Amino acid sequence: MTDTADTTKSPYTPSPGAVALAVLADLDRCIHGRHKPDPCGSCPNGQSAGNGFAPPGRRIGTTVHAEGIYVPEAEDRYDRVAWHTPPADPTASDDPALTAVYRERARLVAFLASTLPSVITPAPDYEGWFIVYVNGPAGQMSWHLAPGDVDLFPDTVARVASWEWDGHDTDEKYRRLDAVTRASTEGVTL
Ligand SMILES: [Zn+2]
Repeated sequence: MTDTADTTKSPYTPSPGAVALAVLADLDRCIHGRHKPDPCGSCPNGQSAGNGFAPPGRRIGTTVHAEGIYVPEAEDRYDRVAWHTPPADPTASDDPALTAVYRERARLVAFLASTLPSVITPAPDYEGWFIVYVNGPAGQMSWHLAPGDVDLFPDTVARVASWEWDGHDTDEKYRRLDAVTRASTEGVTL
C-alpha cells in the first residue's frame, strides 16, 4: 500500500496539544459515548450518566510539583484551577462496588478488632478516612476505614487523636494476621 492509497489518515494532522485537549474533552462521556448533560437512550433516565471510570473528583494523576490532578465537573473542564482542586467530599467519586467491598472488609476487621487490643485514629494520608490499629500477638496490623464504616466497630475500640504506626507494610501485616489465624486454631472445636 502506498501513501496515496491510505484513506485512513485525515489530511489535517492535529497538534499534540489538540490531541490532548480532545481526549480531555471526552472525559465526561458515558460508556455509550454521550457527553454528560446530553440525552442517551442507553443510560438510565435517558440522560448520559457520565464517565464512571473517571467521575468528577477522582484523582487521576500528579503534577511535577507532586500535587494531585482531579477530574473536574464537566462545566469546569477548561478551568485550570479545577484540575488541581481536590473534591470537598473525598468519597464523592468513590466506585460504589469498591465502597461495598471496603464495607465487607471493615466488618471482618471490626470482628478482629473486637477480639484484640485496638484503636481507631484519623488517617493522615486520606482526609476524612480513618485507620484501625490492631495489636495482635505477632505485632501491629492496620487497615484504612472509609468514613461511613467506623460505625461497624464497637465502642470498646477506643477512638484516639493519633497512634504510632510501627512501619509494617501490607506483606508484613498479612504475615502477622496469618500468625493470629494459626494461633487461633489451636484447640478450636466447632
Ligand atoms: Zn449512555
